[in-house]
Amino acid sequence: MTAQILDGKALAEQLRTTFKTRVAALMARNTCPGLAVILAGEDPASQVYVRNKVNACEAADVFSQKIIFPADVPQNALLAKIAELNADAAIHGILVQLPLPRHIHEASVLAAIAPEKDVDGFHAENLGALAQGVPRFIPCTPYGVMKMLETHRVDLPGKEIVIIGRSNIVGKPMALLLIHAGATVTVCHSRTRDLAAHTRRADILIAAAGKPRFISADMVKPGAIIIDVGVNRLPDGKLCGDVDFEAARETASLITPVPGGVGPMTIAMLLANTIEAAERKAEAAAAK
Ligand code: NAP
Repeated sequence: MTAQILDGKALAEQLRTTFKTRVAALMARNTCPGLAVILAGEDPASQVYVRNKVNACEAADVFSQKIIFPADVPQNALLAKIAELNADAAIHGILVQLPLPRHIHEASVLAAIAPEKDVDGFHAENLGALAQGVPRFIPCTPYGVMKMLETHRVDLPGKEIVIIGRSNIVGKPMALLLIHAGATVTVCHSRTRDLAAHTRRADILIAAAGKPRFISADMVKPGAIIIDVGVNRLPDGKLCGDVDFEAARETASLITPVPGGVGPMTIAMLLANTIEAAERKAEAAAAK
């Protein structure tokens, strides 16, 4: 069996058309959705991610503001900027690009973002709401994965799903969403014994470890769906996922490529959350 490709780039492109319609409707109500992206330091990968997010905003007619701090920025300066953006009526979403420089306490910075502008969904209040099954903002990468599964009409109730990775931004929120969707979810991590025994049981395998091509074809159940969240740079400069794509696609039924899979969907869902934040604010203003 050769797996069908789950094309995140094409799906993100389709979504962008619907975003433009929603932005036009907001403009008609004198609201232009606005996203502020904060970057601290010169990490090349983060610079690329920020540039991609800002470009995606432009393409969708969403206003964006890029705020760059040097790597040695004092934490107070970051917090002061976030307080200013929290109060800025033109900004509906605030995103702090992670990872932050080592001297910055990440949780304190994320906690400073107004929950109603937390379009990454990383604020404890928003992660708590997600855990309770009443999400306000769904973190963009797991949201993008859910959208891909939904678009391909993947039936989730009762499915055995194995997630590799337990980070706050991918693994944990992904597990919460899938539990609420009725799947049986196993979360693996670096301390998991016999990873392959888990992955071979998976109807749907979601890899988010950040280890280049470490999921081999013999770790995949025949006919499984593979979602490869990993983005790894190889010595030759090319990108690859956590899964050995060429080998695993001969075993799987549906597989995401890297690049062109989950990455574009993450950015699309960031736009979705930003537009949603602006729509909620416009609704609230209209109700007054
Ligand atoms: P992270 O915070 O480093 O978490 C990695 C997770 O993988 C950890 O839970 C770790 O376990 C686990 N892990 C590492 N090695 C493992 C192994 N050999 N076996 C089993 N589990 C292992 O990373 P992240 O932020 O979640 O990101 C994960 C990957 O997704 C990265 O490649 C990142 O670049 C990519 N990513 C892509 C997108 C996108 O839009 N496509 C978005 C976000 C992230 P421990 O907890 O035990 O250490």
